[in-house]
Amino acid sequence: MDRGPIAEIDLEAIAHNFRIAKKITGNRPIIAVVKADAYGHGAIEASRRLVKEGASYLAVAYAAEAVALRQANIKTPLIVLFDKYDMNNYFKYKLIPVIHDIKTARAFSKEAKKRKQGIDVHIKADTGMGRLGFNIDDLDKNINAIMKMDFLTVTGLMSHFSDADLSDRSYALIQLDRFNKLKNTMIKKGLKHLLSHIANSAAVMSLPESHPDAIRPGLMLYGYSPMQPSALSSQLSALSSQLKPAMTVKTKILSLRKLRKGSPVSYGRTFITSRDSLIAVLPVGYADGYSRAFSNNSDVLVRGRRSPVVGRVCMDTTMVDVTDARGVIEGEDVVLLGRQKADAITASELARKAGTIPYEILTSFGNKSRKVYTHDS
Ligand SMILES: *Cc1c(COP(=O)(O)O)cnc(C)c1O
Repeated sequence: MDRGPIAEIDLEAIAHNFRIAKKITGNRPIIAVVKADAYGHGAIEASRRLVKEGASYLAVAYAAEAVALRQANIKTPLIVLFDKYDMNNYFKYKLIPVIHDIKTARAFSKEAKKRKQGIDVHIKADTGMGRLGFNIDDLDKNINAIMKMDFLTVTGLMSHFSDADLSDRSYALIQLDRFNKLKNTMIKKGLKHLLSHIANSAAVMSLPESHPDAIRPGLMLYGYSPMQPSALSSQLSALSSQLKPAMTVKTKILSLRKLRKGSPVSYGRTFITSRDSLIAVLPVGYADGYSRAFSNNSDVLVRGRRSPVVGRVCMDTTMVDVTDARGVIEGEDVVLLGRQKADAITASELARKAGTIPYEILTSFGNKSRKVYTHDS
C-alpha cells in the first residue's frame, strides 16, 4: 500500500469558480494564483484548466514552480511573486519577476543587458501588508531610477492586502487609496500601459473598487471563501455558497476493531469507550496532513454519516468510532475532506477545529496526497 490519502481534484469545479471570478470582475484579466502546487490541487493540471478557461496570467511564489509549468508546456505569462534568485530561469523561460527592492532591479537590468534580452517586470509596493515591497515613501525616487534602467520594462504595479477578509474595511481602503495614488504617479511618469493588480480573493469578493486592471485570486478558485464569518453579508454568503470546493480527500478503513466499554484508544488514553464500540483504524495520520489538532475533535464520513475521530491522531494512523454507522467493512471508503452523499466536511470546518485557515488545510492535505483528477473536459 502506498502511503497517504487520495485527493480527488475536480477540475470542473476549478473552472466553475474561475467563471464566478470572471463574472464578478467584468472580464478584467485574471492572474490565477497557483502557488504551493495550486494550493495543493496540482499546479500543472489546475493551471492547464485555468488557462483553458481564460486565465491571462498565472502567479507562483518561487521561480522553480514557474519552471515546472513551462516544462509542462504551459505558455501563459507567469508572474513570480516572491523570488529573485535563479536569474537564468527568468530569461530562459520568460518569467515576470516581481521587483521589491532596487538592488534586484539593478541585477535584472545588468543581466538583461549582458544577454541583450529585455525583461518585463512588475513592481511591488508595500501599502501596509508589511511583507515584501518598496516602502511607499521611497517609491517615487526608486521608480525614476528603475525607469532609466536598460533592458528593463515596468509593465505592472502590484500590492497585497493585509485584511480584506474583515467586515471592517477601513484598513483595506487605506491600502487601496495608497495604491491608487502610486498608480497615478506612475502613469504620470509615463508608464501608461501599466497592469495594476491588488485584489486577492477577499477583495475580489468584497471590494469591487479594488479591481483596477486585473485581479489576482487564489483561494476562491479552489472553492472556498476567505471571508471571516462576521464579514459575510447576505450577498457575500450567497456568493460564497456558489463556490464549489474542488478537493475531496479519501482513505480506506485499514482495520475494524470491537472494543469493550471502558477501553482506551491511542496515545495518552485521551479517549475511553463509553460503550461496546466498533473502532475503525484509518491508514492516515499527521504525517499525511491530517493534523494532530483533530484528535477527539473532528469527524470523517463513512457510509454518508459522520463518525468522530477518537483518541489522538498518530503519525500514520487515526481511529474513528463507527459504532453507529451500519454495515461498515474493512476497505470501506472514508472521506476526510469533502462530500459523501448528503453530508460534507469542508476545509473551513476543519480549519475552525484545528485553529487555522482553509488555506493550510488544503495545502497540508493536497501536498501529501496522491492526486487523481475528475471531470477533465
Ligand atoms: C497568495 C497570494 C494571492 C492570492 O490570495 P488568496 O487569498 O488566496 O486569493 C494574491 N497575491 C499574493 C501576493 C499572494 O501571495
